[in-house]
Amino acid sequence: SIILGLESSCDETAAALVTSDRGILAHRLAGQEAAHRPYGGVVPEIAARAHVEALGPLIEAALAEAGLTLGQVDAIAATAGPGLIGGVMVGLVTAKALALAADKPLIAVNHLEGHALSPRLADPDLAFPYLLLLVSGGHCQLLAVEGVGRYRRLATTIDDAAGEAFDKTAKLLGLGFPGGPAVERAAAAGDPAAVPLPRPLVGTAEPHFSFAGLKSAVLRARDTGSWSVPDLAASFQQAVVDCLVDRTRRAIAQVPQATALVVAGGVAANGAVRAALTALAHQHDLPFSAPPLWLCTDNAAMIGWAGAERFAAGLTDPLDVPARARWPLDPHAEKARGAGV
Ligand code: ATP
Ligand code: MG
Ligand code: FE
Repeated sequence: SIILGLESSCDETAAALVTSDRGILAHRLAGQEAAHRPYGGVVPEIAARAHVEALGPLIEAALAEAGLTLGQVDAIAATAGPGLIGGVMVGLVTAKALALAADKPLIAVNHLEGHALSPRLADPDLAFPYLLLLVSGGHCQLLAVEGVGRYRRLATTIDDAAGEAFDKTAKLLGLGFPGGPAVERAAAAGDPAAVPLPRPLVGTAEPHFSFAGLKSAVLRARDTGSWSVPDLAASFQQAVVDCLVDRTRRAIAQVPQATALVVAGGVAANGAVRAALTALAHQHDLPFSAPPLWLCTDNAAMIGWAGAERFAAGLTDPLDVPARARWPLDPHAEKARGAGV
């Protein structure tokens, strides 16, 4: 079957057409970096307006590229959360209108499920269950991905997400927005062992994450030392990598049935992160899987693919399905969180 996927939960507007046998017939994306750059971060109101302007033309362009009409699509999938609620509503309401007009099933996709299943779009050999490190702008979690709609959260961050740490560090090093790719570029010319920085939570039994202290340590080093920006960036990136690897190593022991080690989300586009996790998987005799770089950061192909997986499992949604600013992948873990994590 053919699924139209829409994404609008943050600052990327996107539309894609994917098939249930992993064909990507078209994918279109409009970033909003220039609109948000003067503010140093994503402004929700600006984002929502930009989604309204961009989404319609992107859908038309995707259909034209694929040589399809809406009538030839089997279902329409859109991100229904979590994210900036104004943007989420733009994509979800558009999907509802198209589903109603063309009499097609609607699929409300959790954006995190889009990231979580994206490796399966690129890798036909990746079977359930797998251990997933989900590292994005708003999340840093270890999940046992047991099937479509079946996610068991093993760990999360007690403060900042990994991508958030990259973005904040980029800002305090004057590297601009968005931060992750800028830090990676600066780090390429630096020494990862130059600046002594902490590895928060490394060695603790539960594989949770913490990045707020690391960011503060970079700030202190910037103000009290004489290190270059490339050395600060490289040392920061190495500290993040060390934390991710140590925490993921713990989780591997907790999910012995995992068939592969997988990384997804925007930070999975980072070369140092990918290399370190590849080595970790190798040490544990696990296949390693990561989506191509363009599928790591936000896009609509992963939403279309999650839609295809849900459609194949008979999971469609009513037209009154709500948009949600918060929507945990594993509601059980969220409830159990209570004090601490
Ligand atoms: P979420 O998916 O949690 O809702 P999001 O959709 O904003 O958040 P993504 O688009 O998945 O996040 O990822 C964006 C994040 O990835 C940003 O924080 C960005 O800095 C980070 N990122 C992107 N490329 C790189 C890179 N090469 N190195 C490190 N971080 C990166
Ligand atoms: Mg973005
Ligand atoms: Fe995302």
